[in-house]
Amino acid sequence: MASSSDALMKNFDVLKSRVNRFGIYGLSIALVTIFLSTIIVAYQMTGSVSLSSLLYAQDNNFALRILNFMPFVFAFWGQYTGTDIAYRASAIIVEETDDLRAQTTAWKKKSLHDSTHDALTGLPNRALFYDRLRQAILVASRENRKVAVLFMDIDKFKEVNEAFGHRTGDLILKELAQRLKDLSENADSVSRMGGDEFAILLLGGSSEQDAMDLARHIQKDMEQPFILEQTSIETGVSIGISLYPEHSKVVGALVQLAEIAMSAAKKSHGGFEIYSPRLNQDNPRRVVLVGELRHAIDNDSLELHYQPKIDMRTGRAVSAEVLVRWTHPEHGKISPGEFVPLAERSRLIKSLTRWVIRTAMRDSENWHGNGLKIGMAINISARDLDDPELPDLFTSLLHTYQVNPEWFTLEITESSIMDDPIRALGILNTLSQMGFGLSIDDFGTGYSSLAYLSKLPVQEVKIDQTFVLGMSTNRDDALIVGSTIDLGHNLGLKVVAEGVEDETTWNLLKQRGCDIAQGYYMSPPLTGAQFNEWIRDTRWSPNK
Ligand code: C2E
Ligand code: MG
Ligand code: MG
Repeated sequence: MASSSDALMKNFDVLKSRVNRFGIYGLSIALVTIFLSTIIVAYQMTGSVSLSSLLYAQDNNFALRILNFMPFVFAFWGQYTGTDIAYRASAIIVEETDDLRAQTTAWKKKSLHDSTHDALTGLPNRALFYDRLRQAILVASRENRKVAVLFMDIDKFKEVNEAFGHRTGDLILKELAQRLKDLSENADSVSRMGGDEFAILLLGGSSEQDAMDLARHIQKDMEQPFILEQTSIETGVSIGISLYPEHSKVVGALVQLAEIAMSAAKKSHGGFEIYSPRLNQDNPRRVVLVGELRHAIDNDSLELHYQPKIDMRTGRAVSAEVLVRWTHPEHGKISPGEFVPLAERSRLIKSLTRWVIRTAMRDSENWHGNGLKIGMAINISARDLDDPELPDLFTSLLHTYQVNPEWFTLEITESSIMDDPIRALGILNTLSQMGFGLSIDDFGTGYSSLAYLSKLPVQEVKIDQTFVLGMSTNRDDALIVGSTIDLGHNLGLKVVAEGVEDETTWNLLKQRGCDIAQGYYMSPPLTGAQFNEWIRDTRWSPNK
């Protein structure tokens, strides 16, 4: 943008200086012509050239008088042309600026469109659907209206893709998108949720009836085969319907329930099904919770608590474990022991982990900025080890928050490493090379082999709290803890004991040479503000 208007101004300057130059030339030529003509005319009229004859010629010759106007004509011409050029140049600049503005607006619109729409079908994507559903719920709650979500996917799409190829699969998706738009009163409400999944949003007075009518229309329409490059393909869709406010008032949960109804429709080959708790007998609370958890993540309403890890030799806090907390608006506090596995079973764990890492790094930047120079331990789930984007996310967040990877230890449970040891080794190596510390959490419960353990790039093992809790009363537990400490040390690892609830346990661990302790005896997990206060006043403070 700058370069095009710069070039324009340059041309304009060249032109202006040329006009000025020609103006001056013209003026000079006019003056010389007047002077020479006066001499010639004076000589012709008086026979001599003197000041009085020159003045006489000027006074009495009509042609000379006219010639005297020439400098004014040149001056006027110069002025006029300059002004004209300036006028035209400014018109061009205005036009160019308008063009550029129009281009920028179009470009901005396109990039917004691309981030909210699916490239193949041009339909709104999942994120935009959630956004629109959120708005529809707001309107519905204000105006006492209802909302229905229709969630559908194509029957046997995988088989069609395999039999006819992905190109045909894509054509079916495109045509289905068009058919759904044609069938919906508001074509904007149709979205592609991913893969062969589509959703439609209905906002209305009696949306249950409307939703069923629309579902029937879609089923009827699907009786027409898809004709693609001379091949006729017959397929169908299964549709699930959920309703606001009957089934849930939460965006994520509504979509989730419509999905459950869709699975039921698919099983019963019934075409479509309206959600009912009977479809979800396994654990209705669970499914609703997943939707609500998604909502809590999106709305930043989770919280992080911090529990200190104490160096047993110095008695000082060296780091804090980050533990996520969720206070549900109706059910109150829900334990991460319940909702983390729930998130792990759905796609939600990725968003949850991202939220935790981002928030923890932001807090860590504040801690270090305020002189609290201790580390942080972040829990990473087994499913996160499948996420190839995780290292890139860490890189970008380290940069955003100006934090150092050495300030963080990533805790990965022993069982999640043992789920797929080869894959775990790959990602653990990457994270370790990036500078993060690594710790094996809940050690003693995952049956890992010694040989394998020695290959991992970890610096720490955390003995599972079940052994630590029992060690002061149970001989077996005490033995397990003792030998795990020896085993860890033999492998060159630091050993952490979690679940240290009393002084006796602390002393036993200290005798056995355990390196770090964590537990209610020193402090329970605390909110960020409480932790800041605790670390300032406590006898475990690193600054005392
Ligand atoms: P964990 O990583 O083994 O965390 C230690 C758990 O022990 C925490 O439970 C902590 O509150 C509890 N604890 C600490 N000291 C004591 C003690 O002295 N006695 C007893 N009885 N318990 C103690 P919490 O916060 O309920 O977390 C449970 C599990 O949830 C964690 O186990 C971890 O696996 C998972 N979790 C928590 N936050 C996150 C997170 O941000 N991401 C992931 N992926 N998992 C998390
Ligand atoms: Mg942990
Ligand atoms: Mg643990």
